[in-house]
Amino acid sequence: MDLPRIFTIRESSHRIHNPLTADKLATLGDSLRLAPGTRALDLASGSGEMLATWARDHKITGTGVDISTVFTEQARARAAELGVADRVDFIHGDAVGHIADQPVDLAACVGATWIGNGVAGTIELLDRSLRPGGLMLIGEPYWRRTPPDEQTAKACHATAIADYQELPDLIGQFQDLGYDVVEMTLADQDSWDRYAAAQWLNMRRWLDRNPDDELAPEVREGLTTEPAGYARSTREYLGWGVFALMKR
Ligand code: SAH
Repeated sequence: MDLPRIFTIRESSHRIHNPLTADKLATLGDSLRLAPGTRALDLASGSGEMLATWARDHKITGTGVDISTVFTEQARARAAELGVADRVDFIHGDAVGHIADQPVDLAACVGATWIGNGVAGTIELLDRSLRPGGLMLIGEPYWRRTPPDEQTAKACHATAIADYQELPDLIGQFQDLGYDVVEMTLADQDSWDRYAAAQWLNMRRWLDRNPDDELAPEVREGLTTEPAGYARSTREYLGWGVFALMKR
């Protein structure tokens, strides 16, 4: 049970495995007005940057769960580096069906709503760990502009145009599920570049060091085709944001 190695190669330099920059992640944390001692659960916590920096900046405590051994180790190292290892805990494991032992004040899934088979199921999953009146965070793509054809949607790593909605409709979906949208922090094209373009240098450096690796042809192909493909598709059409929700 682990994240396929291709992702840890591509995102080897990333602390944040989503299209928010460190500044935007900090803005999101500030926007939530977290009280010291807030207890958080972060499903698919990646390299732990959200919990670790918010533990430092807002004195929250929390647990992250992620299926990647590499990212989980990086998360523990980051917590130690920031001096918050006593406040945050990172568990290597499957977040599917994961429910906190004690209800938390903040329950998050940022960039991994497949763990609940989509937005609705992930909200249901997080709700089972959340205390009444708690905050939920969902990180999810939306269409900045609906792609003109299915081929463009696929170039944005969607399976179909129908995978995502435009921003007002995504917000409407949260509301239809019985939640108020109480805050949001959105990626922009520049912050997308920090996530996507940063992968290209990781890939090139890795290729130079590992020319005979079995994944080398795939990484080479990605590095050759992706920059233009990204500029044509994802950068133009795919939006991404973290939405803070409270049950009505
Ligand atoms: N929330 C983090 C990571 C987002 S990337 C951040 O924003 O930085 C998606 C993450 O989902 C990866 O870290 C991957 O390892 C994790 N993941 C994928 N499937 C998972 C599962 N079933 N259970 C737990 N984590 C999972």
